[in-house]
Amino acid sequence: MGSVGAKDVPVLIGEDGRRIDGRRADELRPMKITAGALHQADGSAFVEWGMNKVMAAVYGPREVHPRHLQENNKAIVQCRYNMAAFSVDERKRPGLDRRSQEISKVIAEALESVVFAEEYPRTSIDVYIEVLQANAGTRCAGVVAASVALADAGIPMVDLLPSVAVGKVAGHIVLDLKKEEDNFGEADMPMALVPQSGRLVLLQMEGRLSKAEFATALDMGVAGCKTIYGTMKQALRDRYNVTGSDPTEAGQ
Ligand code: UDP
Repeated sequence: MGSVGAKDVPVLIGEDGRRIDGRRADELRPMKITAGALHQADGSAFVEWGMNKVMAAVYGPREVHPRHLQENNKAIVQCRYNMAAFSVDERKRPGLDRRSQEISKVIAEALESVVFAEEYPRTSIDVYIEVLQANAGTRCAGVVAASVALADAGIPMVDLLPSVAVGKVAGHIVLDLKKEEDNFGEADMPMALVPQSGRLVLLQMEGRLSKAEFATALDMGVAGCKTIYGTMKQALRDRYNVTGSDPTEAGQ
């Protein structure tokens, strides 16, 4: 969030309460998930979410590289989040910068917490996330794509991992920030939720929220994650042509 003159700030919330792209405060951008988008990977998913386009490919469980990272009693999850040079307005220098390294680390930790890693000792589960087009929320799109790709690879998991950012824009708490809202807003808080248990496995914050705003944002994010969860499950059902009842909804 850079400092800009007031004249440069677009109107983020109109008089009708609508956002810059016409959404209500608690509305998600349109999302499409294609599970199994790549032939070569063990598992893959392509997520188109608003103007974000993010591909995830999963390999493994396989031999650990570098070897010294190997754990005797469990698999490790390694993640590489990368933004293509052409993914943003101002060409990004290719390669892993500090931001990509941080995002790779938090995503790997979030995914490791849902994978049954102890079933595959001395192996690595490698997750590659390639951002082809970016418009804010790419780490969340990466988590969504990666967890569908892990399921597509047949890797046992506690649950899928829906993820979304909430934030504060022109004094309003809003769901799923787009680029202008991220740039000119007051706060950006990406999160990832284990839907069945309600556990948060990723929570970051840029900017400031009061306690009450934080609580509102959290509730909005959890509700958003539940909607995204439905889209993720549907993508896997479409991939495997599964019809009928949803086992994760049994007993509800
Ligand atoms: N961005 C950019 N160049 C960069 C990094 C980010 O233009 O080198 C843009 C991109 O649209 C990204 C947004 O800024 O989605 C917000 O970035 P942030 O670091 O908040 O991560 P994200 O919201 O994508 O998870």
